[in-house]
Amino acid sequence: MAGHRIHAIRYARHERAAADNFIAGSPVPDDHAAPMPLDYYVWLIERAGAGPILVDTGFGADAAARRKRTLIRPVEDGLRAIGVDPAAIGEVVLTHLHYDHAGSLGLFPNARFHVQESELAFATGRHMLHGHVRAPFDVEPVADMVRLLFGERLVFHDGDAELTPGVMLRSLHGHTAGLMGVEVATARGSVLLASDACHLYANLVREMPFPIVVDIPKYLDAHRRLKALAPSLAHIIPGHDPLVLSAFPAGGAADVARVDLAPRSSIEALL
Ligand SMILES: [Zn+2]
Repeated sequence: MAGHRIHAIRYARHERAAADNFIAGSPVPDDHAAPMPLDYYVWLIERAGAGPILVDTGFGADAAARRKRTLIRPVEDGLRAIGVDPAAIGEVVLTHLHYDHAGSLGLFPNARFHVQESELAFATGRHMLHGHVRAPFDVEPVADMVRLLFGERLVFHDGDAELTPGVMLRSLHGHTAGLMGVEVATARGSVLLASDACHLYANLVREMPFPIVVDIPKYLDAHRRLKALAPSLAHIIPGHDPLVLSAFPAGGAADVARVDLAPRSSIEALL
């Protein structure tokens, strides 16, 4: 099989310091104040002879303004920049339901949405009574999920599943109660779209969680699982790392990288 193509499409950015990206501060001495920005992505899997699969839906202008994130280009415009009409997307995988992964669901009127049952249960359950736990969720995407549920447009998963040949959903719980990644067969082997199982390569390499985490041992187990599933570090695509755009080949439009292709230089050498 020639393998599927994957576009990482950046839509937003947040400038911040290294200490903000590790639960116990930066483990590297004197590194705490160093700039370590986050980029925000959605990922589009292109299959020969079949429709595209979108992984996550990002957030829109409202959430960007409220949370002081810089919206670089709305997700729908990023998709159009690579020739994809949002209305033509039939399958959307939501890796988890945080505001930056599950907003703007109305942009995809013809899609069904894949989610882990444990994730929707968490996002609509008693733990949302805690402001700290609720903070990375926005109510509208969660309410949209309930509407989609009543419209019979959700597909629930409980752990690993084959979505379609060459596209596996992989349980990577820990950051949230029901986070999943997507393992995609490409011409260079399995590529793991890790989403926020690791925000940055640095979380993975330093074995240090991002500060938002519901279960630290499970989060660290998910790192081990990623390393076991991926042929190399360069086959793991973190959820928010600016290195994805700078290290992988350009994807035919601004702010788009092709992560089914090998990076132009070693990821390890860039860390
Ligand atoms: Zn995220």
